[in-house]
Amino acid sequence: MIEAPQLQADLAVVGAGGAGLYAALSAAAEGADVVLVSATPLARTASYWAQGGVAAALAPDDSPDLHRQDTEIAGRGLVRPSAAAVLCREAPGIVADLERMGVHFDLDAEGGLALGLEGGHSKRRVVHAGGSATGRRIVRQLSALVAENPRIHVLEQARAATIWLRDERCIGLVCEDGRAIAARGVALATGGAAALWSRTTNPPGSVGIGAMLAQAAGAAIADLELIQFHPTAVTAVKGREGFLVTEAIRGEGATIHDHDGERFVEELAPRDEVARAIEAKMRESGKAHVWLDMRAVDPEHFPNVVAALQEAGLDPTTELVPIAPAAHYVMGGVVTDLDGATTVPGLYAVGEAACTGLHGANRLASNSLTECFVFGQRAAIAALAEPAVTASGDAPAAEPIAMPSRETREHLWRDAGIVRSAQGLHTLLEDAHPLARIVGECALLREESRGGHQRSDFPHMDPALDGNHAVIRAGSAPVFESWV
Ligand SMILES: Cc1cc2nc3c(=O)[nH]c(=O)nc-3n(C[C@H](O)[C@H](O)[C@H](O)COP(=O)(O)OP(=O)(O)OC[C@H]3O[C@@H](n4cnc5c(N)ncnc54)[C@H](O)[C@@H]3O)c2cc1C
Repeated sequence: MIEAPQLQADLAVVGAGGAGLYAALSAAAEGADVVLVSATPLARTASYWAQGGVAAALAPDDSPDLHRQDTEIAGRGLVRPSAAAVLCREAPGIVADLERMGVHFDLDAEGGLALGLEGGHSKRRVVHAGGSATGRRIVRQLSALVAENPRIHVLEQARAATIWLRDERCIGLVCEDGRAIAARGVALATGGAAALWSRTTNPPGSVGIGAMLAQAAGAAIADLELIQFHPTAVTAVKGREGFLVTEAIRGEGATIHDHDGERFVEELAPRDEVARAIEAKMRESGKAHVWLDMRAVDPEHFPNVVAALQEAGLDPTTELVPIAPAAHYVMGGVVTDLDGATTVPGLYAVGEAACTGLHGANRLASNSLTECFVFGQRAAIAALAEPAVTASGDAPAAEPIAMPSRETREHLWRDAGIVRSAQGLHTLLEDAHPLARIVGECALLREESRGGHQRSDFPHMDPALDGNHAVIRAGSAPVFESWV
């Protein structure tokens, strides 16, 4: 126990990626006092790295309903319909709000928003900024607004370590350095968990911190067996291992080839299909990569991809790019309702840390930034309706969060990679890291293949598991629950 909280707020937000920044701004816009805790500098967030853009049904021939249908098709019978409906309905308003906040999305020749096409989308519906610099542009603008907002107090380089509970309700958090923050609501916006896998497109901090914090507080987590492997991550280029080449480049005509120069996959098929086709081709050929040909794509549309590769000594305007799949997005996370509320009163989770069920078994490209903003805003508003907290000196001591070792990360890549089987998954149950064990448990429970979970010993989808999520509640083994 420590003496007394050092800070008091209406909302405490953990994480300064797209979800955390937008949640903080949304709460401040309602007149709330916010404390924003961020462990890393901005450039270390997945949001900053996002290249493709933000999905929203904005074209005249598009509609939220078509967007929802595409989301559900990509999610392979596991998308929670209510979450998809909320996202697709609210996405156009979010884009307008971001523009109002000063984010300048790219325009087409007529001065309207330029809409990109990405895998799994039946319409052009992805807005972007600075070509492939979308995440960077959005995060910079939102960060600038946060910095100048007198209602938001930012704790930089501070790490949330423990959720502060009183009578089974979350009333704040404690940072690693012992500082405590009392608040009506705490929103975990700590990002995803794909960097638990050794080959990843994610920043090093994306190791499931939200799931660890929430689980320690007694909240349910779910679906950690569902991992999206991005098909086109750079490999064998020094300094650029795991660097993601956005799908939008394939939308503009880039093609994938084997070592004989043949195309072997429909480039804009959903990500899981493309990743599996590449993995199968690599296995068949014994090569460690295939090739991406983006020579016919206008480099001015993707300046930071081209620049990053050229800096590493590979010119994608004249050379082929060696690529292989990498862990990119974990569909699972902290279980929430449609307002970001977890199963612990007062505790919220948003962005990639959360599992609303929106992405089902396979996230539709560019739905995750949209999710950060739609559910970040909903959670911020819902949290402000929680009862006020009277701070007193009962904050717990900070507990260090377990970080994955190199062995754990390699273990997950080897035994919970693109294709898994019971034999390898059983070994994960002995891993030193708690989330690796949970991945193993969830993946063993799901005796089928679906989206981001492919089992060589259960190669088909089991229709009886449609709509069923693998949920882990306070220390119990995962069980299937159906969400509507
Ligand atoms: C290379 C790449 C490209 C992508 N491109 C796209 C795209 O084009 N479109 C799209 O929709 N999605 C894209 N995604 C996915 C998308 O970027 C992420 O899902 C989304 O940005 C996650 O945002 P977030 O706010 O939830 O988390 P993040 O942006 O990862 O931010 C997490 C924050 O939590 C902080 N944090 C973590 N633990 C703690 C702690 N204990 N205490 C305090 N702070 C903590 C971190 O420091 C960070 O500030 C991409 C992902 C990657 C990796």
